[in-house]
Amino acid sequence: MKHHIEIQKVATSKAGELDFSNIPLGTTFTDHMFICDYANGEWGVPRIQPLELIPTHPAAMALHYGQAIFEGMKATVGVDGSPMLFRADKNAARLNFSADRMGMPDFPEDLFVEGLKQLVALEHNWIPPMDGSALYLRPFMYADEPFIGMRAANNYKFIVMASPAGPFFTNRIKLYAETKYIRAVEGGTGEAKAAGNYAAAIRPTEIAKSKGYDQVLWLDAVEHKYIQEVGTMNIFFKIDGKFVTPKRDGAILDGITRMSVIDLLRHKGYEVTERSITIDEIEEASKNKTLEEAFGTGTAVGIAYIQEIGFEGRTIHVSDESPVGLDVNDTLNAIKTGKIEDPFNWMIKVEKELV
Ligand SMILES: *Cc1c(COP(=O)(O)O)cnc(C)c1O
Repeated sequence: MKHHIEIQKVATSKAGELDFSNIPLGTTFTDHMFICDYANGEWGVPRIQPLELIPTHPAAMALHYGQAIFEGMKATVGVDGSPMLFRADKNAARLNFSADRMGMPDFPEDLFVEGLKQLVALEHNWIPPMDGSALYLRPFMYADEPFIGMRAANNYKFIVMASPAGPFFTNRIKLYAETKYIRAVEGGTGEAKAAGNYAAAIRPTEIAKSKGYDQVLWLDAVEHKYIQEVGTMNIFFKIDGKFVTPKRDGAILDGITRMSVIDLLRHKGYEVTERSITIDEIEEASKNKTLEEAFGTGTAVGIAYIQEIGFEGRTIHVSDESPVGLDVNDTLNAIKTGKIEDPFNWMIKVEKELV
């Protein structure tokens, strides 16, 4: 189905004011946003309009009961100059998985992808061209019905904002294996990309940072023993030549970078197993010198190499090199910029003349 999207453009774009070599992180937004309202059981006319403030009723239900979910994805520009989206269909499907868990309405997946394409076409001058840079896209949905009382809201907004992002630091990170606080438990909301999951993670993350770590390594809620994931990333280990990553247990986020890295590693001939991994096993492998690599995967950073994990006052060291992680990161970036062939058909081309 072809969707009609109403478009209202800004009089003058601010894209020219941006210095691509010095992009402040998370505070720069493009000229426009995609927006669609849900009322009376259906989504209204989708619009692309100038990014502006949205009046909020103090009783808006998202503020009180937390019906709020989001996505994170990137648009890049190929060597031929055309903008591209990475696996946007997966983000569309995951948004609806999250919506279902949080009692929110589905957003049509073809409209999700079409809206992103048209927004990216309109904002293509905002896509930083340098390697590792991208236009970060933030689709999100929240309950904006003014109501005091506990039930699913009747009114929602679906919005996509875009924010240019420079290359992330590739400094190796230190993780703090958290044994007191938990992120998610089977049956909870850990598999949904829900705002509330982050709310619960903020204080533990601040504590980890005050101890000199970059991020929390989340362990399972029951035994504080099985590794789940890192703050905003999934996690991979290379032990004795083979890769392992925690299996999806209903509590970890089903990362699109995670699933892509699994495919890429297998494509490169490595064995990858999704299974339960205990923190003790990782500590043991570190002692035996068989822990060869550890890295986190997520849209924002790509691949983040892990230097060490603090666990119960001890330090689990990871080998100084991460050759396979680096190679996979390079391959992923080369696919995203069309520098190498895309063997999996992940990239979705955007016509600049779309709008
Ligand atoms: C978004 C997210 C990830 C990474 O998912 P990608 O689709 O790879 O960006 C991992 N863990 C959590 C908790 C997340 O919210």
